[in-house]
Amino acid sequence: MLMTRQRRPVIRTLRGWAMNVLNEAGAIRECEEHGWMQDRADPHARERAFDIARRDLPEGVSRQAAEAALRAVLDSIGDTCPQCPSVEQDRR
Ligand SMILES: [Zn+2]
Repeated sequence: MLMTRQRRPVIRTLRGWAMNVLNEAGAIRECEEHGWMQDRADPHARERAFDIARRDLPEGVSRQAAEAALRAVLDSIGDTCPQCPSVEQDRR
């Protein structure tokens, strides 16, 4: 019996959930060419992400833990793709 496939991928880690929330809010985005996550440094998108996070807490996760997970993701990714030409950095 090969019925183990699931329609929707289960988000297994809190980090994965946080990435998903941030992505949904537009706070981070994936480089289309290289697949690296980038912080868009958009304070409004971040606020939106935290709003989504509070409304959509994973089961058994406290609000504090969820917010910490979002911050940890934001801290761990850069605002440019490490493999893209450095043109973007001129916009800072
Ligand atoms: Zn790239």
